[in-house]
Amino acid sequence: MSSFDATEVRLTWRSTLVERLREAGSLQFGQVEIVLPRSFGFCWGVDRALAMVEEARREHAGRPLWLISSIIHNPRVNEDLRAKGVRFLRGEHADAGAWERLGALDVVIVPAFSAPVEDLMRLEARGVTVVDTTCPWVIKPHKRTLKYVKEGFTTVIHGTLGHEETEATCSLIAHEGGHFVVVDSLEQALPLARFLEGELDADGLRAALPERACSIGFDPSRDLARVGVINQTTMLARESRAIGDRLRAALAKRDGEAGLEESFRDFDTICRATQDNQDAARAIAEQSPDLFLVVGGYDSSNTKNLARVGDDAGVPAYHIEGPHCLDVESVRHRDRVSGRIGETQGWLPSRRPLRVAFTAGASTPDALLGEVIARLLQLCGEIEN
Ligand code: SF4
Repeated sequence: MSSFDATEVRLTWRSTLVERLREAGSLQFGQVEIVLPRSFGFCWGVDRALAMVEEARREHAGRPLWLISSIIHNPRVNEDLRAKGVRFLRGEHADAGAWERLGALDVVIVPAFSAPVEDLMRLEARGVTVVDTTCPWVIKPHKRTLKYVKEGFTTVIHGTLGHEETEATCSLIAHEGGHFVVVDSLEQALPLARFLEGELDADGLRAALPERACSIGFDPSRDLARVGVINQTTMLARESRAIGDRLRAALAKRDGEAGLEESFRDFDTICRATQDNQDAARAIAEQSPDLFLVVGGYDSSNTKNLARVGDDAGVPAYHIEGPHCLDVESVRHRDRVSGRIGETQGWLPSRRPLRVAFTAGASTPDALLGEVIARLLQLCGEIEN
């Protein structure tokens, strides 16, 4: 994989408190112990994408620099780029009609999670300069799906509908004339398994899947003869494995073990950083801290899944976006089951000593994590406001 210099990125987003904790693993502040996992926060792909943006700002100084929607799933980082003059083609801060005005002078950054083929073709047609920061780990499932399409397999993607990476993968498959089905959980994969086992008909399967979960023209009776599984790079690894195993069992029932060679493929496309952060978070959660705070954007897939690791270990885990989410009485967080953002009262235990574990998603800067830790220590009365 290509080399890049992330020094400037790391310096911009550094936190001395987090650096001390990274070094020590845990630190005691009066009656409160703060614990961090051995792996958390900015991943290789995010470092690389942000370093490429800085390089583009220097190399194309004076030219309009655009992001399609966001560079990574963290509001603070995207806001920082906006303050530096980077403009947006989509989303909350989009310039109306910008796509139509793009021309040879404009520079457009493709984010780390890639972009749909239609967007890339549109950019090419407008003659803009493209800076492609797509993470090489994201290209891995792309390559695998192209192989599936070529060999006549329909791709089952363990991913989230609407997530840019999965949208890009779906568009690639459709563009190549293949078919896909997106399932975001084991539960959503079950109707598919039941169809393969002959226990659900095609109409029943269509009704059970969310809108837009299948490619246009997808015909379950015709297109599920051969099934290849991949996952969005940032999903919960154990759930991806469970989905692959469940579909394999269903096809074994339909085609026999000997038939699987013809009809089934399963390829793990979870990225290394996601896997490392999940493993490290699990190790910390299994130490049964009193509280587990997971810091990252609410639209960050890998952060959402880190919060689910706490569930596995039976530890109260809160997915929060930043220090503004914490107050003595209440915590503002994303509910892991419903996905809603709301407040929970009485979240902060009054007992002492208190052991609080933190982790942070791959798109969460150290600076933001450091502010959250400092806020928690203030609320516990261990450091001054
Ligand atoms: S989380 Fe993984 S796939 Fe996503 S940018 Fe980071 S290294 Fe790449």
